[in-house]
Amino acid sequence: MSSSEIIKCDLCDYQFKVFARQEEELCDREYYPITRYYPLPEENAHLVRNYICDTCYNDIGNVVKISLIEAGEKYLNEVESRKTKKLTEYLKYLQEIDRDYQEVKIYCDKLKSINSILELDKQTIKDLSSMYSNKYPYSTGTYYLEHAQDIEKITKHNMKKISDWEKEYDIEISKYPKGYGSWDVVSKEEFKNVLLDSEIENMNTRKIVQLVNSI
Ligand SMILES: [Zn+2]
Repeated sequence: MSSSEIIKCDLCDYQFKVFARQEEELCDREYYPITRYYPLPEENAHLVRNYICDTCYNDIGNVVKISLIEAGEKYLNEVESRKTKKLTEYLKYLQEIDRDYQEVKIYCDKLKSINSILELDKQTIKDLSSMYSNKYPYSTGTYYLEHAQDIEKITKHNMKKISDWEKEYDIEISKYPKGYGSWDVVSKEEFKNVLLDSEIENMNTRKIVQLVNSI
């Protein structure tokens, strides 16, 4: 039976002549009318898995063998195109490895050429610090690079966090200049410029200039 009026032999595609029958189908505990189709009895169709015609049925061993051989030969004939496809993928992977190699080499050479990480430009710091960019292999260095830059400024270049400079001169900046925050590490000269562009608690511009000149 079939809900379509086209029923074919599953092995040779021969299309059976059919007849329709009104039946009922149980759905949600209710019966609904449905038209189902069956091969005419004189077609002598055999229901094996799906319908197969009488000719195929009587020669089924041979029909199945031919079907298997056809599938095997199709597979064998496609060997070259399968190899070509895999080779293309393989070459693509090799290109990716080469591209990564070139990229990592540029960063690695740059790192070897500098005396201090403070010489690295902002974009390089960003690329080397990112755990997700995959531009450079991950290490503890990746994790600490940004902090190391700030700490190195403090330990080797007499620079301080802006908040520490504020403490040292006993002032409180209420509004930092654009691009600056209390955690930025700056030299004393840079701090003076920050002060000139800041708003400070209990200080007018004249007092700020006085303070800057006294530092
Ligand atoms: Zn058939």
